[in-house]
Amino acid sequence: MAFEGLSSRLQNVFGKLRGKGKVTEEDLNDAMREVRLALLEADVNFKVVKEFIAKVKEKALGQELQKSFTPGMIIIDIVNKELTELMGGTQSKLAKAAKSPTVIMMAGLQGAGKTTTSGKLALMLKKSNHKPLLVAGDIYRPAAIKQLEVVGSGVGVPVFTLGDQTSPVEIARQGVQHAKDNGLDYVIIDTAGRLHIDEALMDELKQIHEVTKPDEVLFVVDAMTGQEAVNVAQSFHDQLALTGVVLTKLDGDTRGGAALSIKAVTGCPIKFAATGEKIEPLEPFHPERMASRILGMGDMLSLIEKAQAGIDADKAAEMERKMRTAEFTFEDFLDQMEQVRKMGPLDQIMDMLPGMNKMKGMKDMKVDDKQVGRVEAIVKSMTTEEKRKPEVLNHSRRKRIAAGSGTSVAEVNRLIKQFDDMRKMMKQFSSMMGPGSKGPKGA
Ligand code: GDP
Repeated sequence: MAFEGLSSRLQNVFGKLRGKGKVTEEDLNDAMREVRLALLEADVNFKVVKEFIAKVKEKALGQELQKSFTPGMIIIDIVNKELTELMGGTQSKLAKAAKSPTVIMMAGLQGAGKTTTSGKLALMLKKSNHKPLLVAGDIYRPAAIKQLEVVGSGVGVPVFTLGDQTSPVEIARQGVQHAKDNGLDYVIIDTAGRLHIDEALMDELKQIHEVTKPDEVLFVVDAMTGQEAVNVAQSFHDQLALTGVVLTKLDGDTRGGAALSIKAVTGCPIKFAATGEKIEPLEPFHPERMASRILGMGDMLSLIEKAQAGIDADKAAEMERKMRTAEFTFEDFLDQMEQVRKMGPLDQIMDMLPGMNKMKGMKDMKVDDKQVGRVEAIVKSMTTEEKRKPEVLNHSRRKRIAAGSGTSVAEVNRLIKQFDDMRKMMKQFSSMMGPGSKGPKGA
């Protein structure tokens, strides 16, 4: 799978950080050293790596890591956001000309996947109700025209060709005219590639560019070639003003260098990602999804965001003190419940925790939100005095609370009993602890 090495190395680094209650500057430096090596090994441009690490460090130190309960998570979150930025931040869409047809010129080295990608792009456009035309502009590679014709007929998209005796510039010009005459709204011009960049090729591409004035110049590049892909992209960009990049062969075991460096070095956004030799619709490239895929995080990120928004560190510390000194009241109980609830439905929170569904028995555990809501209603129906001094709760008060909360006296009794048990347990626990100590004596 693509990015496997990078992904597992980064997950390793963050696995160590995740469980930490405190992250020192030294921990951060250690982690960043490992991230740096992982990125370099994935063939990411060294300048890009240097800037990336500096940014992450600066942001991490700017956060009050000491105050947080999840300092490791904050760092992972920062890395995720910076990886996303590195790949362009948000999804970059295909251009659409104000006046039809939209002309897309494909460029890239031989074997990068231009012809295949042209077919995938045509299929993607066709599926979204457009009428594309493929133009066979590679007259040099034997069988290139035939290949495009096969691809075109496979996806049901017309292919414009004038054989291999007319100049590609003229083919491109007539191709665009053909689309205009036939009411086709996208023209995809497949061009010739060489094994290396040479002047004759660049001249020809520049002429095609001049004649067809493309709305989009897509640079097709094999993601497996790593940093070399970035160098070639830069040369093409200097001559042709590329508007976007298509990364191909992401199904292979590419290390990630191209995906992570190309935007940062050339300024050109990655617009599409291609996988497989079969002609399937081309997939738009989503930087944020790619970043969380590299970090192997999935929904963890939404959970981190929720936790950060929902949990107040000062409040939680106060709560911990109260539990230790057994000053815990119904007011605190409610407060704590609200903090957890701010994070969203409990079932969903459980689902977002990685590995939770893999743990034995966890799968069947149901968290009953309705039940939590009823408990909340009961506590809210108490007066301030009752919340602070639950011992005043006699039968008539309990009856009033049940009526006020739409529950039954039995339910109110059960909750008070549970609360009492909890307080007793806290008292026992705190009597076992010495002043200031955080664990049971002698344990
Ligand atoms: P061109 O010379 O740039 O037009 O490249 P082609 O479209 O002919 O592709 C070169 C080779 O790469 C062909 O064997 C394609 O089947 C293969 N190829 C193209 N795109 C992909 C891809 O996304 N994944 C894989 N695995 N192979 C691809």
